[in-house]
Amino acid sequence: MNGRSRLLLLLWVTLVGAAPAKDVPIRTSLRVGLRSLDGKALSLTVGRGTFQLRAGKGRILVSFGEGQGFDVQIRPDARINVVLKKKTLVVRDFLLLPKGRGGSLFVKSGQARRYLWGSLSVSVRRGRLRAVETLPLEDYLLGVVPAEMPASWGMEALKSQAILARTYTLVHMGERHKDYDLCDLSHCQVYLGQGISTAATNRAVRETAGRVILFRGRPAEVFYHSTCGGATVGPSLVFGQGMSGNSPSQPGVQDKTQKGVLCRLSPHYHWEYRVDKNRFQRFLGNLGPQASGLGKILKVRILKRDKTRRVEIIELVGRKGSLEMSGHDFRMRFLRSFSGDSLKSTMFSLNIDKGEVVFRGRGFGHGVGLCQWGAQALAKQGYDFRKILLHYFPWGKVGRLTK
Ligand SMILES: [Zn+2]
Ligand SMILES: [Zn+2]
Repeated sequence: MNGRSRLLLLLWVTLVGAAPAKDVPIRTSLRVGLRSLDGKALSLTVGRGTFQLRAGKGRILVSFGEGQGFDVQIRPDARINVVLKKKTLVVRDFLLLPKGRGGSLFVKSGQARRYLWGSLSVSVRRGRLRAVETLPLEDYLLGVVPAEMPASWGMEALKSQAILARTYTLVHMGERHKDYDLCDLSHCQVYLGQGISTAATNRAVRETAGRVILFRGRPAEVFYHSTCGGATVGPSLVFGQGMSGNSPSQPGVQDKTQKGVLCRLSPHYHWEYRVDKNRFQRFLGNLGPQASGLGKILKVRILKRDKTRRVEIIELVGRKGSLEMSGHDFRMRFLRSFSGDSLKSTMFSLNIDKGEVVFRGRGFGHGVGLCQWGAQALAKQGYDFRKILLHYFPWGKVGRLTK
């Protein structure tokens, strides 16, 4: 987090006591790097309202009303062509500012399409156009919640997701990128603009405005994932010791109530993934310099599981030696080599069946923090967002940041 955000947070963090306070949005704005729009050309059209085009910090060059727009192309000299109806402007960068509130802008880049609300700055970075949207935090969340959880889910699950996303944003803004606060990809948090928000997801954000998960009075380091498979794990088991985030180092929780395991209705609760034996052998051989010295791999053994039955240490036994690696590392490399939903979790076993290696497992994701399918089950059982969040973060407080 940069100095500016930290200072603002210090100013804003005050816990409101038991008296019911009005929802107060957190008045901070966010610069979102729209990496999903990275490319050589963009097309921009005003959906609602009026937008004004400025080059750099200069004067207003053109105003656009509803349905009007322009194309943008990168030039060989790394400047930008702004192609208007009757002329083409050449600029280094530009800013497109909404006049008043309620405007919307439609942006196309290749296959990607986004409706945006905020002001948009466009510049050139490493031979590609870089679009950055600046907008209020609470507006940003309207484009995050439906990207991270199905909009058809229970209202209290959606509210829990909104609070998690708000907390995550405040903790991580300005941390991983130099030119903006967060990117719009899963690297930071998926943001798809206003095109996908629904009345329900908007309500979930608005009705929890300003609320976050707090630990020792500050926004907590929180995580979430799709399906835990029966129990969650502490962050240090997955992300290593020495995590500096603002959360206690404590184990996960049993994801059940008297009615049974919460996420059992998830399509990822049980899964199987089969891979051709030769392909698996090639993958093992490419696991890095240490693995390549093992010779032909003869066996893969699970040496240690944690209390939740997740693989902690896996061993590759080759003709010339053996190598141990963490279950999390093994999974991450497997996902990069096969596909993002192949080895869905580290709660797995493996067997050889004819010419194939068969992985059978439970759950989807790293298993840290909130289990989304579990949260949805709790919402169906009548839990409100506060109870849902405290089920997964028993050490936390659901509080409010006010100015
Ligand atoms: Zn990022
Ligand atoms: Zn679960």
